[in-house]
Amino acid sequence: MTNKTALVTGGSGGIGGAICRKLAETGYYVAVNYYSSKAEAEALAAEIGGIAIHADVTIPNEVDDMFAKIGEPDVLVNNAGIALYELFQLTAPEQRRSVIDVNLHGAMNCSAAALPAMICRKCGSIVNISSVWGEYGAAMEVVYSASKAALIGFTKSLAKEVAPSGIRVNAVSPGLIDTKMNARFSAEDIAALGGCGTPEDVAATVAWLVSDASGFVNGAVIPVNGGNF
Ligand code: NAP
Repeated sequence: MTNKTALVTGGSGGIGGAICRKLAETGYYVAVNYYSSKAEAEALAAEIGGIAIHADVTIPNEVDDMFAKIGEPDVLVNNAGIALYELFQLTAPEQRRSVIDVNLHGAMNCSAAALPAMICRKCGSIVNISSVWGEYGAAMEVVYSASKAALIGFTKSLAKEVAPSGIRVNAVSPGLIDTKMNARFSAEDIAALGGCGTPEDVAATVAWLVSDASGFVNGAVIPVNGGNF
């Protein structure tokens, strides 16, 4: 058991839920952040002996209130994210802004709130959930891909900035994972992409990244994609 606290944003979702379970299994007290899925977050928190906590990660005041309630997490997993599947020229400015807000600014807001205590303690681990589309780009998901590419840039740069303070910042880059985010894809689409991974595949990698076993891994982007991309 670690006696440490982990905050997982979007813990109410498919991948976030698996990360919460895995971190709880390895001894973390887990704060399950949610935005709209209160019942799911509360049920999960009850199951793993953690706490469910609401915050819209795009709103700095809500993020600060969340940190005030849970204290100073040793681990932050920036997992909250939204997709946007549309031809780029048909996307509206508000839609584009909202994807960048959740997927990039959300991670930045939470990291900014987590870092002061981590820097004081000279330890801490941040894991950002990016995407293969952030590495390679995807038609019909241009804005999403841009947000996830920016998250990779954020990961690598922040890692350089805070490594001297003993803090690690890494990213996981999942391929297609079986969650409600991909409900729009047919079985044929999924087969054409080489099949789906599971939220547990991503969670296992996150658990490794926050463990001492990966102590010299910093600024890395770890693919979890079955070799399909
Ligand atoms: P999901 O089940 O739809 O979960 C998304 C989560 O993000 C939900 O818990 C949702 O909370 C939360 N969220 C959305 N907006 C938020 C906000 N403003 N503030 C706080 N939380 C917010 O999707 P998923 O597949 O598990 O995705 C999790 C992460 O993995 C995302 O970053 C996604 O981009 C990334 N990813 C997914 C795949 C995939 O194939 N599924 C592949 C690569 C990367 P509520 O439900 O409470 O509103």
